Amino acid sequence: MKRVGILALQGDFEAHRKALELAGGAETMEVRTAGDLASVDGLVIPGGESSTMLKLLDIEQLFDPLKEFGHRKPILGTCAGAILLARGVSNPPQASLGLMDISVERNGYGRQLDSRVTEITPEEEFLRRAGGGKMEAVFIRAPIIKTVRDGVTVLARYRGAPVLVEQGRHMAATFHPELTGDPRVHRWFLDKL
Ligand code: GLN
Repeated sequence: MKRVGILALQGDFEAHRKALELAGGAETMEVRTAGDLASVDGLVIPGGESSTMLKLLDIEQLFDPLKEFGHRKPILGTCAGAILLARGVSNPPQASLGLMDISVERNGYGRQLDSRVTEITPEEEFLRRAGGGKMEAVFIRAPIIKTVRDGVTVLARYRGAPVLVEQGRHMAATFHPELTGDPRVHRWFLDKL
């Protein structure tokens, strides 16, 4: 059975473990060291505070191993995790793994999306493969995806801006699919392992 890791330095990693177990088909494991990373087939980077996560990645000397991991294995980044996957980050600018050709603005929706539960309609391509209809989306101080380059597929939008994207083996969501009990995003990711 494939094993999927959840980066467990900071943020809501426990909710992702439950969501992955609900989606089924893979073992889960919390990842805190480069050694842990070596024993997983894919990784989830959870929501939290991306600047804090960056500091912890630095302290744990995990930044380079994570980047190298992403050159070979799939990563799903949600919210702060999406910020870490992006190629460009603003408000303020900060380091990132640069594994997906998207640029993001931290807290880009301003106060409106400090915390909001809403409904989004995934794109046709997503619905065709994943089934179901509308998706509940929880936004918490969410980044906004400002640009997507060639090679990035938009799987869902909210108010015109992409909120769920994939590029090759990687996926990013600016909302929190681990909080709503809808397994479709995690299943989509597990299919990449
Ligand atoms: N605002 C956070 C950041 O900039 C992300 C919020 C989240 O992950 N829920 O890192």
